[in-house]
Amino acid sequence: MPERLDWDSYFMNIARVVSSRATCPRRYVGAVIVRDKTILSTGYNGSIRGMPHCTEVGHMMENGHCVATIHAELNAIIQAARNGVRIEGATIYVTASPCWTCFKALANSGIRRICYGEIYDDERSFLVARRLGITMEHIAINHRVSAVSVPPAEPST
Ligand SMILES: [Zn+2]
Ligand SMILES: [Zn+2]
Repeated sequence: MPERLDWDSYFMNIARVVSSRATCPRRYVGAVIVRDKTILSTGYNGSIRGMPHCTEVGHMMENGHCVATIHAELNAIIQAARNGVRIEGATIYVTASPCWTCFKALANSGIRRICYGEIYDDERSFLVARRLGITMEHIAINHRVSAVSVPPAEPST
């Protein structure tokens, strides 16, 4: 019998599956918001609803970043809002640690624990999280049990 996955790895793997739907090839990120072992919402980085994807029309570059997409964490918050789901006190599993903008939104939406796969640049999120009592926790993405293949990100220019 293969070893049974713990809950954190389980939800992080689901976040990885969610990331496979991302539409900006510069970075594939997926997020899952969870409370009491129940998924409340999911999100991946993609264009505004109704707008073409980066994969169709190219990126919208600004200061070395593509700003065409809404990030996975924000889309997860937005999906909860659209459906009237309360996310106060929840945990978010995100395949890359949040950028400063997403971190601010997560903090104000009442998320109390941020579990991330790989580290993405922003040190401010970590410092402010400590001050606010928001837990930041690294959860390894277990590629062995992940059934989906997510394409590698484009090399940054
Ligand atoms: Zn893009
Ligand atoms: Zn972000």
